[in-house]
Parts: sequence; C-alpha cells; structure tokens
Amino acid sequence: MHILVLNSGSSSLKFQVIDIVITETGECQAHYLAKGLVESIGSNAQLTFTVSGKQKTRQNKPIKNHQIAIDTILQWLVSPQAEIDAIQSFDDIQAVGHRVVHGGERFAKSILIDQTVISGIEKCMELAPLHNPANLKGIEAITALLGSDIPQVAVFDTAFHATLSEAAYLYGLPYQFYRRYKIRRYGFHGNSHRYIAYKYRKIHNIPAKEVNIISLHLGNGCSACSIHAGKSIDTSMGFTPLDGLVMGTRSGDIDASILNYLHSKEGMDFAEIDNLLNKQSGLLGISGLTSDMREILDEANEHDDRRAKLAIEIFCRNIRKYIAAYFVEASGKVDAIVFTGGIGENSAQIREIICTQLIAIGLEFDPLANNQGLDNCEYRQISTPDSKLKAWVIPTNEEFIIAVDTIREVTLKKSACG
Ligand code: ADP
Repeated sequence: MHILVLNSGSSSLKFQVIDIVITETGECQAHYLAKGLVESIGSNAQLTFTVSGKQKTRQNKPIKNHQIAIDTILQWLVSPQAEIDAIQSFDDIQAVGHRVVHGGERFAKSILIDQTVISGIEKCMELAPLHNPANLKGIEAITALLGSDIPQVAVFDTAFHATLSEAAYLYGLPYQFYRRYKIRRYGFHGNSHRYIAYKYRKIHNIPAKEVNIISLHLGNGCSACSIHAGKSIDTSMGFTPLDGLVMGTRSGDIDASILNYLHSKEGMDFAEIDNLLNKQSGLLGISGLTSDMREILDEANEHDDRRAKLAIEIFCRNIRKYIAAYFVEASGKVDAIVFTGGIGENSAQIREIICTQLIAIGLEFDPLANNQGLDNCEYRQISTPDSKLKAWVIPTNEEFIIAVDTIREVTLKKSACG
C-alpha cells in the first residue's frame, strides 16, 4: 500500500511516500519512495523534494496556504520529472497518515479519520493552539484534493504516553484543575520514542514486554522517555512541549514563579513570556548565539566561547538528571539508554559528556565506538560489551510508525510492528 505521510506545521509541511506491506508473519516491510519539505508557507516558500536514490531538487515559489502546498506536492509526485514508477496518478496513493500533535485524553491510539475524529481533534485545539489547527489543515486539504473516499488516519504524538500512571502525569497542583481542565503531563515525541522501543526490540530480538530503556530524543525539541516493559511510564515533556529538557529555543523546566517576577520586572504580559520561554530560551538564550547545537559546539571548541560552553553544560546536566531520576523510579531495571534525534544521532561530543558521568549507574562508556558514529551502520552500541547499563545510538523514524498505524487502521490487519 502506498501511503502519503504528512506532518503539517504552522508554516511548514514535511511529507514522505512509503510503500508498506504487512507480511504473513505480521512484519511490516517499508520502502521509501519519496520525501520532501515545504517551508515558509504563506510567503515565498522553499520546496525540497527527493525521490529515493536520486538528487534533491529545490525550488522557491509563493505558496499561500496548506492546500496549495499539498497540491504542489501531489502534482510533483505524479509528474514525469519525479519519475516515481509506482506513482503515476493520484489513485496510486491509497491512504494518508497524518501526524497530529495533541490527542489529549480522548485519543490513546491512532484512528481512521471521520467527522467525529475531526471534531475530537478540534476539541484538543486549546491544548495545542499552534499545532492541531495546522494538522487539521492538512486533513482538510487532502479531502479537498483527493476526495472524501481516501482513507486518512490520525497518529498522535501524545498517544504513546497514554500509559503513564496518574502519579506520573499529575502535577503538584490542586486536583480540581485536572478535573476541570485536564491540566496534566501529556508528553510528546511519542512516535519517536515508540519507534526507538520497536527498533531496540528488533535489534535484540526480544518481545516488547522485555524492552526497559530510557529513550533520549535530542533534536531542536528534546525529550526523555522512560520505557518499561515496552510502555511509556514517564516522559519529560508535559502539558505542552515546553516542559523538561533544555532545548534549542525552549527553556525546559523552570520555577513557575519566574513568570510573575518577569511580569513585575520587565512588564511582560503572558504572551510575551510564553514567547520568551518557547522561542528565545534554551541553547539560544543561554549562549546568546544560536539554537543550533552544531554551531554551539563549534563556538565552544574553536573559540572557547564561555556561554556556548555553559549552554552545553546545562543541556547535558539536565539530561543526566532525568536519566538518573528515571533509573531510580524504574528500580534500576533499565537495560540501556538510547540516543536519537539530530543531536543524539550525530554529536559524539554531547553523548560523551552525558555518558561519562553515568558510571555511577553502571554505564561503562566506549569512546572509540562513540567516535565512530553511525558511519554506514544503521545503529551502534556505544558502551562496552560488559557494561551493566548499555548505551546505544539508534536513528529515529517517526514516519515509519505513522505508515504502520495507517496500514493497520485501513486494512485492519494485525501486525506486531511499532
Ligand atoms: P527537529 O527536532 O526539528 O526534527 P533535528 O532532529 O534535525 O531537529 O535536530 C536538529 C539539531 O541537531 C540541531 O541543533 C542541529 O545542530 C543538531 N545536529 C545535527 N547534526 C549535528 C552534528 N553533527 N553535531 C551536533 N549537532 C548536530
């Protein structure tokens, strides 16, 4: 089945076309046909398209809205210059899987989209005012362009964390605010953490219930997830993706009294403070330079920049604190920590700073393996073979999870993937 996977952001849109089948034994075999990105929707957009095994193509053109962006993608997919043998017309796209950021408590799993699901996603809008409206635009655009008969599936970023216990998801706030407004930890990056749990068990050839790991998704957004018996039991992002680890531009955990203090000192209103915490903090705010970890590392290594070094130290220290907390909460029943995301997959230096101090909880780091990076490997162990607590680097693949859930919901076939 050819599945179009869409990730619609407020002004950008990522897509992949995946040919996926569920085999007799319930395995999922995926072939990646094409992928791309449309950025700066609403103005002069940049489009990047890649057909598997071929050169990237880039172009710029004004794109007014999501529907025009998706139309442009669809036209490109069927165009002669794309040369995708399997996709000759729109009929060759048999289903669409959408990443939907917030499913609230309403959606604990992926679901075939109908009018009731759309109003459910709308009801979660208040919880993710930036993301869910963009996700809905993607769904509406597909209906408008491919008709209402094409099956569309919503795959939620929050769903993997639906297994958190009440003790893990409640904040220390008066209980009635949970009852009235559902203020609680939801957690995000669920499809990435779920993929890591899946890939880890495939690598080790173990059943899901034997997966006990701490997954670290370190990209522009960062989150940690404690996975026990294959299920998420705690995660660092909370009511919104602002909570938890220090990120590119997000502060992560802070004392909430700082909001009031900033208001009184700087006269900032809540919208300004929200913008400060989400867009001007984290690596960018501490370094005063950039949110990009590669550039921060360059500044620290080549120019000995004090604040770049500080940003790295705070970033890694915060991650170690979460690892230690999750290790203790799981009574030490953690077999491995797994690095993923742009920073986790690519920065040997950040992995080393985090791991060398984890000897206290049984991690014997292997600097040689770490420095080899992934090279041509799909994944790599970066702890010594005898280390009690192992460390791994495993590239994430959220699109695979979305494609798997889409084929499952559409065909109702059982599969143990993901
Ligand atoms: P997103 O969360 O938007 O998907 P990514 O997962 O692509 O982002 O991660 C982006 C982050 O990864 C940036 O901070 C970038 O600097 C960092 N990154 C990518 N490659 C490297 C590298 N080789 N060394 C250090 N950081 C890297």
